[in-house]
Amino acid sequence: MTPLQRPSPISASIDFDADGVQHGFLRLPYSRDDSAWGSVMIPITVVKRGDGPTALLTGGNHGDEYEGPVALFDLARRLRADAVQGRVIIVPAMNYPAFRAGTRTSPIDRGNLNRSFPGRPDGTVTEKIADYFQRTLLPLADIVLDFHSGGRTLDFLPYAAAHELPDKEQEKRCFDAVAAFSAPYSMRMIEIDAVGMYDTAAEAMGKVFVTTELSGGGTSSARTVGIAKRGVMNVLKHAGIVAGVPETSPTRWLDMPSSDCFRFAEDDGLVESCVDLGDVVHVGDVIARIHPVGRTGQAPAEYRAALDGVLAARHFPGLIKTGDCLAVVATVEEKTESEN
Ligand SMILES: [Zn+2]
Repeated sequence: MTPLQRPSPISASIDFDADGVQHGFLRLPYSRDDSAWGSVMIPITVVKRGDGPTALLTGGNHGDEYEGPVALFDLARRLRADAVQGRVIIVPAMNYPAFRAGTRTSPIDRGNLNRSFPGRPDGTVTEKIADYFQRTLLPLADIVLDFHSGGRTLDFLPYAAAHELPDKEQEKRCFDAVAAFSAPYSMRMIEIDAVGMYDTAAEAMGKVFVTTELSGGGTSSARTVGIAKRGVMNVLKHAGIVAGVPETSPTRWLDMPSSDCFRFAEDDGLVESCVDLGDVVHVGDVIARIHPVGRTGQAPAEYRAALDGVLAARHFPGLIKTGDCLAVVATVEEKTESEN
């Protein structure tokens, strides 16, 4: 970042330093055909009491992932100031235009918020949102929880995750928070391409950063919303912001040791899953077939596991295009119980 950057055009209707519960907006001016002096109004809640750590809780970084928004709209409505020591900042739908459109990226500029960091105050709408998180909200936070799911084109085992980091002390604090979240699975995650991610921005500032993947397919379920609601309260308890100890249950630790985890489609066609999420696979096992759909009588392409592990993610829905992520195999770590 240059020191000469202009101020963000986004203004908050709430006071981040005031005690109590405030519901308001991050208002981003957006002049357009149907609203000359219009704005994007991103809902935000701040719950604060006295001194203490700050948690920044976000969903809707991608607009078609729903456990985070469901859990965070619910929490924003219910969390009382007298239950908090410190501050909780809740943005249930970060990329609000994408969330309202039900799409991964913004309908305004096609911006993928999680590839737009650090953003620009004079950039696109999506870049302006990234810049506001980069320069205003992340610096306020001690612990950051960013909810993801698979969206309309992926489906995951429900897991909380953190990344391997150069600072091992920071990495441990992140994994302690993952353990506290206590999803059925906990992942040591690698990214296909970490450039421009909110994750990377938060980690580079030394924050404790936890993310999730909680199923997908462009919807949510009672089970996965339950995991999200319990997980967010567990993280707030772990951070000492809400009283009590996290309500943990056994979690299965998974690892993504290399890019061999990912299988990308080299064919267009119809996906036949040969194993389901959570199933054990060995090197060479067929995990999926892609059937050509132009005519009958042609053999499907077979896609095999390159690692021993479990199926952690799969393409969704039933048709696939060349280049799409078909499957992710994660290895199972020895420690399978909650270790926090
Ligand atoms: Zn996502």
